[in-house]
Amino acid sequence: MPVEQVQTLIIGGGQAGLVMSHRLKQRGLAHLVLERHRIAERWRSERWDGLKFQFPNWSVSLPESSFPHTDPDGFAATGEIVQFIDAYAAFVAPPIRCGVAVTRLRRRDGAPGFVAETSDGVIEADNVVVATGPYQRAVMPDLLRDDARVFQVHASRYTNPDQLPPGAVLVVGSGASGAQITEELCRAGRHVYLSVGAHTRLPRRYRGRDLIWWLGAMGIDQTPVEARGPSRLLPLITGAYGGHTIDFRRFAADGVTLLGRVSAARDGVLDIAPDLGKSLVEGEATYAIFLDMVDAHVEKHGLELPEEPGARAKLPDPPCVTEPLRRLDLSGDGIGAVIWATGYALDFGWIEIPVLDKRGEPLHRHGVAEVPGLYFLGLQWLSKMKSSFLSGVGDDAALLADHIAARR
Ligand SMILES: Cc1cc2nc3c(=O)[nH]c(=O)nc-3n(C[C@H](O)[C@H](O)[C@H](O)COP(=O)(O)OP(=O)(O)OC[C@H]3O[C@@H](n4cnc5c(N)ncnc54)[C@H](O)[C@@H]3O)c2cc1C
Repeated sequence: MPVEQVQTLIIGGGQAGLVMSHRLKQRGLAHLVLERHRIAERWRSERWDGLKFQFPNWSVSLPESSFPHTDPDGFAATGEIVQFIDAYAAFVAPPIRCGVAVTRLRRRDGAPGFVAETSDGVIEADNVVVATGPYQRAVMPDLLRDDARVFQVHASRYTNPDQLPPGAVLVVGSGASGAQITEELCRAGRHVYLSVGAHTRLPRRYRGRDLIWWLGAMGIDQTPVEARGPSRLLPLITGAYGGHTIDFRRFAADGVTLLGRVSAARDGVLDIAPDLGKSLVEGEATYAIFLDMVDAHVEKHGLELPEEPGARAKLPDPPCVTEPLRRLDLSGDGIGAVIWATGYALDFGWIEIPVLDKRGEPLHRHGVAEVPGLYFLGLQWLSKMKSSFLSGVGDDAALLADHIAARR
């Protein structure tokens, strides 16, 4: 049987795979996209019903395509983002096969190029662009593994409050997902315990402008990966309920019980670390630094934007901070469900090419791997801060397409 040959194989049919296809088409370069499920699958099946896009409508775009909206300052529902990506796919008209998973990727024997084993046969390619997403595998600590006494779900499989059995809910993780799910459950009348760890708290709006506007105006979203710094935390923001600044002290005032990190579990009883106050203070420090940066920018550029001293107001420490809980008894405290908002990891176990570091992260420079012809796209901080944003992937894809064109 002759093996199918393609010039460039793109693996993944999310926004990154589609944009890559668009960039190759613009240069007249032949390619094929393989998507194991449906276009934009993660937006369809790994996001909860009430999630709102975290960027305001005016800022949402893909190359040659702006998000259609009536309210520039509104925040799109997940379904609207799926529609936007579907419409983009219709515009790009990529050569794509959906329902085909790449199960192994290796180098050709004795020749340049790659061999992809797929659920629908073998494909050989001169170039491969891996566009399988920045959030590939749900990460859940082992703490309550095999504990059938309580309903457990990772944020990627959470859908809405009705999915959960009655009782209080423990949300573990204080990134954007944990905070947004906590707020949704609290508004649905559930008592929520939120386990708070390190977080990067930022304002939704300040001095009349949205955070995303400020990131652009100050050039922060263009920060090159080389200047990234050690923090790996994603910003704690929300587009839900019109978009507002997340404040854990406000959560506590609204009835949420804040906890420190869950450090151990035994027989349904959780040990809670004494670090809640420290995490809040550190999160508030990031927030204050950001406000200072904006104020300095406003002054330097003489921008006529109203001052907003109220943004620095701080609610007093709630009782759950002054007298923090050190243990939580899942049944004794009436907890019916645990939501693990504990993040995501990469999962490149199917790539059988020495291109991953000890942590399983690909070795590359701005998406160009050390192995000639192998590329990565859509990863966090691929080349700069906005690399994995919907509106940031186009620039990286253009550079990779130029690199592929030059290889010919
Ligand atoms: C809760 C949450 C909220 C978010 N909110 C925002 C937001 O507001 N704004 C924003 O810009 N970003 C947001 N993101 C991030 C955003 O979802 C991702 O950055 C985006 O989906 C990345 O697009 P992608 O095409 O790179 O990857 P994905 O969307 O992950 O697409 C990768 C595709 O590859 C396919 N695939 C994987 N492995 C294989 C294989 N072996 N063979 C074939 N196909 C494969 C998958 O099925 C998938 O369709 C959010 C993420 C999460 C988790």
